[in-house]
Amino acid sequence: MDVTIHRALLDRALAVDDPAGFVDIGISGDKIVEISTDELSPGHVAIQARGQLAIPPFFEPHFHLDNPLLWPSDQTADLINQSGTLFEAIDIYARVKKDRQLDDLIDKASQAVRQALSNGVLWFRGHVDIDPDSKLKMLQGVVAVKRKFSGIVDIGIIAFPQLGMARSSETVDLMYQAMENGADLVGGIPHIEKDLDDAAKQIEIIFNIAKKYNTSIDMHVDEIDDPYWRSLELLADKTIAENYQGRVSASHCCAMAAWDEATFQRIIPKVIAAQITIVTNPLTNLFLQGREDQPPVRRGVPPLDRLIKAGVNVACGHDDMNNMFYPFGSMNPLDAALFAAHAGYLTTPHLIRKAFEMPGYSAARSFGIQDYGLKVGNPAHLLLLPVQSELDALRLHPSPTLVMRAGKVLVQTEVRQTFSEIVPQ
Ligand SMILES: [Zn+2]
Repeated sequence: MDVTIHRALLDRALAVDDPAGFVDIGISGDKIVEISTDELSPGHVAIQARGQLAIPPFFEPHFHLDNPLLWPSDQTADLINQSGTLFEAIDIYARVKKDRQLDDLIDKASQAVRQALSNGVLWFRGHVDIDPDSKLKMLQGVVAVKRKFSGIVDIGIIAFPQLGMARSSETVDLMYQAMENGADLVGGIPHIEKDLDDAAKQIEIIFNIAKKYNTSIDMHVDEIDDPYWRSLELLADKTIAENYQGRVSASHCCAMAAWDEATFQRIIPKVIAAQITIVTNPLTNLFLQGREDQPPVRRGVPPLDRLIKAGVNVACGHDDMNNMFYPFGSMNPLDAALFAAHAGYLTTPHLIRKAFEMPGYSAARSFGIQDYGLKVGNPAHLLLLPVQSELDALRLHPSPTLVMRAGKVLVQTEVRQTFSEIVPQ
């Protein structure tokens, strides 16, 4: 055995025979070859888990790799989002990206990926703005980051027409060029268009591009509080019409929080039939939405409990880190899941488990990864988390002490805390 991991607590949902027991995990080459409640003889490398939770690594399914860490350290007034709205953030960023230096972009995006990796992320989707101002410049930077991390963190690049497409043939051309120059998925943002008719045009263009390159679709959908916006319904109808089931993700879906009941009941069965994954981004949605509303103020998070109970696959993402859209962000997927649990009323044991799975099993389904999970025969991708349950993983949201990919240790973190003897028990 090349690597053995001793006395790990196997994620309960996976351990069929011994749901609460400790196991030893044996790894040969890049595969898990044994999971045993008996102690294995130490391999060439022996790792002592000491009762930590062993789980498969996380996904970051929604992040903007072209703009992390742009929050100005000198508090420059014109880079601060004074209104706190999404639309002011988009305006500020449109000014910033004209002068964006590639070296700076690559450096900051790499910091975000490394931080995500230290929190157990091995699969990443990054949106990159494609528009007449920045053209393919930022894509070039993110492609360089993707290459740097090849074999360490898998980065799928999403061409993202942030400023719309229905009335910009130049952006449509640029989107095709983006697919020829390193983008892996087609993005979209139908609610940036003038109305639902133009939104339908944008969705039509997106499917044309996706079909030409036989790629998946990952869109920003209805990231707005106005219940007028029902692009999700257009997207679901189109997905079914184009036989694209299971290959489409819809992020945000904030307007759903403002829909009336009849609209919700009409559209959600279509989302399920289209096998669309909804990726919620509670960190940025709670921060940016509801800023222009009259009471009752909406916070832009869809009813996650109802979506999950209805059978929708729901994942969660970080969206932004430390920029004009969102000053915070840790790149720890458990932070996003914890916020989702709060904002989406994921309060029962079953729903708490679902919150824990959002950056894991649920995201794996939307990425189409079949051999995900700690099972004999699967790739030896795993994390050790210094907790004993998924509830504590969310409650304490620690970084993993071990991040392993294909049997190779990528990150190890020391956890050492000593209380002085004068501190009471
Ligand atoms: Zn986004």
